[in-house]
Amino acid sequence: GLKTYFPLTQGIVFQRKVGDIRAVDDVSLSIERGKTLGLVGESGSGKTTIARTLVRLYKPTAGKILFDGKDLATLEGEELRRVRQRLQMIFQDPYASLNPRFTIGSLIGEPMHIYKTASPKEVQEQVVELLRVVGLRPEYIDRYPHEFSGGQRQRIAVARALAINPDFIIADEPVSALDVSVRAQVLNLLQRLQRQFSLTYLFVSHDLSVVRHVADRIAVMYLGKIVELADRDELYASPQHPYTMALLSAVPIPDPQIEKKRKRIILTGDLPSPINIPRGCRFHTRCPMAQSICREVEPPFEAKRGREHYAACHFSDQTSTLASSTPEASP
Ligand code: SF4
Repeated sequence: GLKTYFPLTQGIVFQRKVGDIRAVDDVSLSIERGKTLGLVGESGSGKTTIARTLVRLYKPTAGKILFDGKDLATLEGEELRRVRQRLQMIFQDPYASLNPRFTIGSLIGEPMHIYKTASPKEVQEQVVELLRVVGLRPEYIDRYPHEFSGGQRQRIAVARALAINPDFIIADEPVSALDVSVRAQVLNLLQRLQRQFSLTYLFVSHDLSVVRHVADRIAVMYLGKIVELADRDELYASPQHPYTMALLSAVPIPDPQIEKKRKRIILTGDLPSPINIPRGCRFHTRCPMAQSICREVEPPFEAKRGREHYAACHFSDQTSTLASSTPEASP
């Protein structure tokens, strides 16, 4: 079993069935208060399902979502509302998530009205303050979303998420739709806000090079399961699952010396359909290390190089033969 961290989210375990498809299968995760857990995987891995289940856009079919000791999976009505107030979500597409018919002042102020956290007069003042906090000019308050660039719109979405003082932010691919040139600015903003407001993040992304900049701990998902979980530097230095190694192979390394020596695992084949999950190890159809046992026996998710590093692979002790030079983490 997984070790539990601090009380904010003590453990998330759920299964979600869509018809006969299990989008997410027995996932256990915990997130330390004030830290960032990166959740990484290809599209179709189930990472977005986890993010949306946490804010109860979906209801899990089994399991628990513990948030400060309360099970979000079973809360209803006023109790759910009170806990939901502390969890906010930032979506990938700042174009789609902001209603174009409202000024950004009313968009950012709306959660305060809904949750009655401020009087109408206070709302105005707090919106101005929030605009400053996310690096936008207060005089923008009466403008509409279409008047802003992608990066500015994501700042607006961040201000809206912060409006009711959440503890926990779920960011689902928050910079994937943005120009590369503004990604770093938005990531830096999220990190600054985390320190300023003691926020805890679940940061969902398909891109390990983005997650590397923000996450303290990283969970790698494949076809609805977590296949590896470790602290950030440990994961980059000593990946134990061939799938993680393949994802890392796709991350460019700025140092040409390391780049030259490095061995890559290039993934072949497509992600299998979640309707037809391979038996045994679900990664065996694409794994360059697969052996006959992998087609029959599902590898347990277990501690590898130390208590805090987990992976699900029968042969993780041999992955070093595949990656004799692993990339160093860059700051
Ligand atoms: Fe590859 Fe086998 Fe490990 Fe699965 S258990 S990741 S197929 S080596």
